[in-house]
Amino acid sequence: MAAQSVSVLITGANRGLGLEMVKQMVEAPRQLRKLFACCRDPEGPRAEALQTLAKKHPNIISVVRLDADDLCSIKQCVQQVGLLVGTGGLNLLINNAAILFRSNLLEISPEEMQKTFNTNVMGPMNIIKEFLPHLRAAAKASGTPGMSTSKSAVINISSTLGSMQYIHQSYDFIPGVSYRVSKAALNMLTACAAEELRKEEILFSVLHPGWVRTELGGENADIDAQESVLGMLDVMASMTEKQSGAFLDYKGKPVPW
Ligand code: NDP
Repeated sequence: MAAQSVSVLITGANRGLGLEMVKQMVEAPRQLRKLFACCRDPEGPRAEALQTLAKKHPNIISVVRLDADDLCSIKQCVQQVGLLVGTGGLNLLINNAAILFRSNLLEISPEEMQKTFNTNVMGPMNIIKEFLPHLRAAAKASGTPGMSTSKSAVINISSTLGSMQYIHQSYDFIPGVSYRVSKAALNMLTACAAEELRKEEILFSVLHPGWVRTELGGENADIDAQESVLGMLDVMASMTEKQSGAFLDYKGKPVPW
């Protein structure tokens, strides 16, 4: 993140990569004005680690309820965030929350596809649309030309499992049909948003975090959340208009669509 003080929102911030992003971002508090750490059950047992972290940084971290499957909760979150960011707007929105089912085409049910699509595609789409006024406010308030993640940006956390070109390398290992379809759709959603909002200087990009040891990634994954997030935050900090509409991994390497 650049030296300027920014406001950030992260979905699925109670565990896994989302929680690690919150941890690493508050370690550089001078660069953060406000960090909205969103999760679907802030008072529940799965949010305890996040709540403990938030108590240590009460002026920066706000734990806010947001269920990506629930448009009402998204709208309520937008209102809460608006009250705190005011005319400065929201600089960086990270759509991190997602779910993964491992089924292949013969095993998958319509309900599973629908559920995955709701969380991994409709969620980010609704969140982007509802937060657009705050992203626009941040772009206007910055007073600097060009694009960056400290000005106004949306980072959608995707996966190489959504890449058409990588399918032969990974399908036998994990079919995950609904997840793959949802991440491919998220990639296209990001590309569309990047085109549509380029003139307003709002950056949209897709990041692959690597194969990471979280509940979703499993214990045999290549890297831990700390390494993945260190890399992703570095990549985000260096983004300009050249990376709007790009698909990059946590080391900054372009991923084929
Ligand atoms: P985890 O399963 O560890 O965490 C997922 C997070 O998403 C949890 O906080 C969970 O909250 C939240 N979530 C799920 N559904 C919803 C919902 N409807 N509304 C709000 N929050 C929700 O996953 P990771 O941390 O590993 O994954 C983070 C991102 O990285 C995802 O987008 C994933 O696809 C991507 N990714 C991960 C890889 C890996 O190897 N780990 C590889 C490639 C991509 P709750 O506790 O309430 O369930």
